[in-house]
Amino acid sequence: MKANEIRRKYLQFFKEKGHRVEPSASLVPVDDPSLLWINSGVATLKKYFDGRVKPENPRIVNAQKAIRTNDIENVGYTARHHTFFEMLGNFSIGDYFKEEAILWAWEFLTDPKWMGLDPEKLSVTIHPEDDEAYRIWNEQVGIPSERIVKLKENFWDIGEGPSGPNTEIFYDRGEHLCDPDDPECYPGGENERYLEIWNLVFSQYNHNPDGSYTPLPKKNIDTGMGLERMASVMQDVPTNYDTDLFQPIIQATCKEAGVEYGTDRETDIALKVIADHVRTIVFAIGDGVVPSNEGRGYVLRRLLRRAVRYARVLGIERPFLYRLTGVVAEGMKEYYPEPAQKQAFIERVIEGEEERFLETLSEGLRILSEVVEKAKAEGRDIITGQEAFTLYDTYGFPVDLTEDFARENGLNVDKDGFAAAMEAQRERAREARQDVDSMQVQGGALADLDVQSEFVGYTKWSTDTRVA
Ligand code: ATP
Ligand code: MG
Ligand code: MG
Ligand code: MG
Repeated sequence: MKANEIRRKYLQFFKEKGHRVEPSASLVPVDDPSLLWINSGVATLKKYFDGRVKPENPRIVNAQKAIRTNDIENVGYTARHHTFFEMLGNFSIGDYFKEEAILWAWEFLTDPKWMGLDPEKLSVTIHPEDDEAYRIWNEQVGIPSERIVKLKENFWDIGEGPSGPNTEIFYDRGEHLCDPDDPECYPGGENERYLEIWNLVFSQYNHNPDGSYTPLPKKNIDTGMGLERMASVMQDVPTNYDTDLFQPIIQATCKEAGVEYGTDRETDIALKVIADHVRTIVFAIGDGVVPSNEGRGYVLRRLLRRAVRYARVLGIERPFLYRLTGVVAEGMKEYYPEPAQKQAFIERVIEGEEERFLETLSEGLRILSEVVEKAKAEGRDIITGQEAFTLYDTYGFPVDLTEDFARENGLNVDKDGFAAAMEAQRERAREARQDVDSMQVQGGALADLDVQSEFVGYTKWSTDTRVA
């Protein structure tokens, strides 16, 4: 089953259960300074959950594009993590609750009319005190107790406000993927056997300012299923990268580099990182973000440079990523028309950034090799914060790129030292601004919070290369 069909079926299933289909919102949060990127389906619906806006229909379903940079280290290494992915979600704003949420999830996953998965391959985790969820899974759904795992972490709490237990659904990818004696071999543990596909959050308490929890008069449901993971299950392939969401991008890259996917570990990691990052890059630019040295723009720049570096691992030394824009746009246009509509613009932004970075990359890589050699010669297993900072400041090497390179050579980067060097430079810049005029002091402080996302003209991103 193609990914487009899974998305279509999910929306259709919940439409038939009385849900209103809400279109995917921009990756750039609106009126929400607490978030840099939309990172889940519920993130765009906060206005309903916190009562600011009353939805026309208390049952909502969406397919929402999301970015999570906290998972960047996993990308290319685990089968299931991306920086850009889609979350399919159904939501109840004070309407249905636990029973419907669980029974419908089960129906969607196991009914042959929908996903038709083998019930024996599914297991769940719940919160240890959530007797209601246990009863529904065990008695109503019929999951045997050994496949209902109780985990303390299954509680969703962001401090004050709505909170509650959650339950997660896992697909068993096969016994060979972890040793049953391994203490991490359980759903929710660090392993590749049990793949988390769906999270159902039951927000039923208010976390009060005094720390106590009281039942909410109106309880909510918030769920999220990863489309790429579901696609890997439905297509019966070992990783998300083997699905139709990624293969066209990977194949286009293989063709350019003259390599074959699935033959060499290092090559595959590079292919996966490029495929992952280029989707993020294309969608971020499609939503109006451009590379810069702050906020979202800096995240975008880091991802782009990281992808360029991996393209070089494959022997691609000229701007190339921009040419994947069309491949990404084509695969996603059924539900997301923006990349196709803005293709020429997105290509121009990517190509410009690639060109600029490639100019300094060779020199930077040479310096980086020297830094690594020096560290080894001195018996260090660490690259100092100052060394990493110089690479950043002079060659535009984002620290995670230096880290990747270090990791390949068995070294670590002193991240705290890097942050300190960065902060010291900010401080110097702030002082320099203070000298200019006092009005700019405020501007300077605010600039650190700046998460500019609108396109502000080519000059802005083509001339500034350093943190001011
Ligand atoms: P994991 O434990 O695998 O990191 P998570 O518990 O952090 O996942 P949730 O916050 O519960 O994920 O998000 C809901 C669903 O979204 C997950 O069950 C998964 O299917 C999907 N998902 C979460 N993070 C990612 C990611 N980085 N890449 C792809 N899919 C993801
Ligand atoms: Mg996670
Ligand atoms: Mg999890
Ligand atoms: Mg989860």
